[in-house]
Amino acid sequence: MSLKWKIALGYSALLIVAMTVMSGIIVWRFQQILYDQAATSVNATMKAIVAFAQQSTTPFSLEDSSTGTLQFLFNSSNLATWNSPSSYVQVDSSNGYPLAKTANLGSMTIPANPKLSAAHDVAFREISLGDRSFLVEDRYLRAGASAAIIHVAEPLDTLQRTFARARQAIAIVLGATAAAVVVLSIVFASQATTPINQLSREMREIGSDRLAIAGGKGALDGRRRRGSRDEVGRLAQSFGDLLARLSEAFARERQFISDASHELKTPLTSINANAQMLLRWGDRDPAVRQESLETIVRESADLAAMVNGMLTLAKADRGDEIPKEPLSLAQIASEVSQNAAPRAAEKEIALHFRHSGTPIVYGDPHLLRQLVGNLVDNAIKFSERGSVQVSVGGNGASAWVDVTDTGPGIPESELSNIFERFYRADKARSRDVPGTGLGLAIVRSIARVHGGEATVSNAPGGGARFRVILPRVQAPFT
Ligand code: ADP
Repeated sequence: MSLKWKIALGYSALLIVAMTVMSGIIVWRFQQILYDQAATSVNATMKAIVAFAQQSTTPFSLEDSSTGTLQFLFNSSNLATWNSPSSYVQVDSSNGYPLAKTANLGSMTIPANPKLSAAHDVAFREISLGDRSFLVEDRYLRAGASAAIIHVAEPLDTLQRTFARARQAIAIVLGATAAAVVVLSIVFASQATTPINQLSREMREIGSDRLAIAGGKGALDGRRRRGSRDEVGRLAQSFGDLLARLSEAFARERQFISDASHELKTPLTSINANAQMLLRWGDRDPAVRQESLETIVRESADLAAMVNGMLTLAKADRGDEIPKEPLSLAQIASEVSQNAAPRAAEKEIALHFRHSGTPIVYGDPHLLRQLVGNLVDNAIKFSERGSVQVSVGGNGASAWVDVTDTGPGIPESELSNIFERFYRADKARSRDVPGTGLGLAIVRSIARVHGGEATVSNAPGGGARFRVILPRVQAPFT
């Protein structure tokens, strides 16, 4: 069963049940009130008769308990006072023998009530006489030693006709309302489910190829423009945002693959050309052979570095699977600085390491060593002279490592792109400096997979300053 029908039928059933129960209660209460009214009026007549009997003096006293006296007291002309369309009166002797009655009873006789006795002297009941029904109050009336039974009856025909009409009216209203509820529920349910159906249709239409050409991004824009701010509107919006993020991710992947192929192609082409030179001239010309072999070695080393870099990026991108342990950031940076010292010395660059405190971070030692290593390598690589400063510190919940150099710095316009994969700033300069353009992308990736971030700025006296902030592990490790 579709959601539309489930909502429509469920809602209708609930409403109809509620309405029926409510009408039932109203009818029942209405009947009760009318019965109470009838009982009150019967009881008023009864009181009047009892008062009449008790106030009469001799020879109408009940004390003279002979049947004749009773008959004399409650004779038909006395009872005629209470003869009306809404009251029928009959007086029986204490043993249940009918003595007198109002003329409107005609040939009908109100039967004795077996529940009535001297101990239980008042009772109400509903009886049928002929084809009519009556509400009857029976009273066992005593005066000294004598007793009589009085019945006062009120016909219920009008009351019952009223009930019947009320029930009929309520049934008609109930039926009509139920039909309206069903129809309206179906209308509302389809109104509610139409946008969902529309959304799922749109989702089906967005195949992976449409995502791939970044068309997915605009696919739900039409819906979003229609701007419903209800749940479905918000769902469409979230779905559109998700698609946008997915298509951006796809676009990034595609860019990476095309950049990677392009970057891999250059050294491969060079290796291939040099290998052909070797084949053709290598035996004859030792100078050519030497040069070709040197190029092949250099280019293949570049290639290996690039593939290594891509593998590290892929590893960092996997994120969660990286085994992490508590590590001293100062110790890692100090080791990396020591390893880089010979390269710095070669270029006569002073390499300083400094730390304030020993902040502990939670991470993969190889990746974090590579992170600091890439920054220190770049600082040495791009500086001609001067110094490189590596410092580690921590404050509150963060630990940081700074690598500052006195090199040329990074042009302001390039600052935002420097961490992109394969991006190399100031192409002319980068051309004489070996590199893959992956180093900083790896730094950022590793920082992020450790819950941190990498930033760059230019140092006040020129030169670049890279900072990586990582979450610091609190006690028991610090
Ligand atoms: P690579 O060093 O292999 O070129 P990176 O991703 O490490 O690639 O760096 C990207 C670019 O950022 C470099 O090509 C260079 O232009 C610039 N860069 C990185 N570090 C520095 C630095 N310390 N000083 C000046 N420029 C830098």
